[in-house]
Amino acid sequence: MSQSTSAPHANAAPAVGTLYIISAPSGAGKTSLVRALLQRNASIGVSVSHTTRAMRPGEQDGVNYHFVDQPGFEAMVERGEFFEHAWVFDRHYGTSRVEVEKRLAVGEDVILEIDWQGARQVREQAPDAESIFILPPSRKALRERLSGRGTDDEAVIERRMRDAVSEMSHFDEYEHVIINDTFEHALTELECIVHARRSRLDKMRARHATLLDELLNGLD
Ligand code: GDP
Ligand code: ADP
Ligand code: 5GP
Repeated sequence: MSQSTSAPHANAAPAVGTLYIISAPSGAGKTSLVRALLQRNASIGVSVSHTTRAMRPGEQDGVNYHFVDQPGFEAMVERGEFFEHAWVFDRHYGTSRVEVEKRLAVGEDVILEIDWQGARQVREQAPDAESIFILPPSRKALRERLSGRGTDDEAVIERRMRDAVSEMSHFDEYEHVIINDTFEHALTELECIVHARRSRLDKMRARHATLLDELLNGLD
């Protein structure tokens, strides 16, 4: 059998970041898991969405969300500034196109914490995005987490519990599903997904072009 003598072209792909879509019913723990993942992984970031919902105690504009009013959000829609946007719990939520594209272009991995409607819009434009759905271990646990978080009143919690089933019914549109029972286990599963993705051929080729060139074409 003959062996090819031409080494692979190590610089074949540019270093473009990976887009991760993370969805879950409100209270399942996606924000906590993403925050913990970011603390352990420097080369991954989270997209800060725009929303018309009210700021919760402890939230900061530009950190948790960009808080905008209805006319401001609609003007952004008109100008085509959203990568995706959706109506969730009677409020607008959306991901800024420029924010995501500029970070991906410099090779940064970007997490989108978005609902299932937004996930569909993102998959259409970025079929390569890695999608993850987070489920709570039970309905009882979901309710306890929503109450325990202490950020929403009883009416808001009831609304979110009612919408949880409809959000969860879309879990099978995602490539990965994590049940957030023990937090550390769920976090490890999330990390494994990121590591597995980073070891894929196209990503390795882009990130380790110099090493591949040295291994395959270097002279001793
Ligand atoms: P939490 O999930 O309980 O922290 O509640 P939030 O009010 O932060 O989010 C409400 C819903 O909006 C969730 O289903 C999110 O996935 C969704 N969401 C947040 N940001 C975005 C966004 O930029 N785009 C879309 N499509 N959905 C979003
Ligand atoms: P989401 O962003 O999905 O709405 P959060 O990350 O705000 O959810 O989590 C909701 C609440 O549940 C928070 O108070 C968080 O500390 C708690 N929580 C998250 N994961 C777990 C877990 N595995 N076990 C117990 N509590 C959790
Ligand atoms: P909360 O208002 O509790 O922060 O978020 C409620 C829900 O809105 C969450 O389930 C979250 O995933 C979703 N969400 C937050 N930001 C976005 C966004 O930019 N786009 C979409 N589609 N959903 C979002």
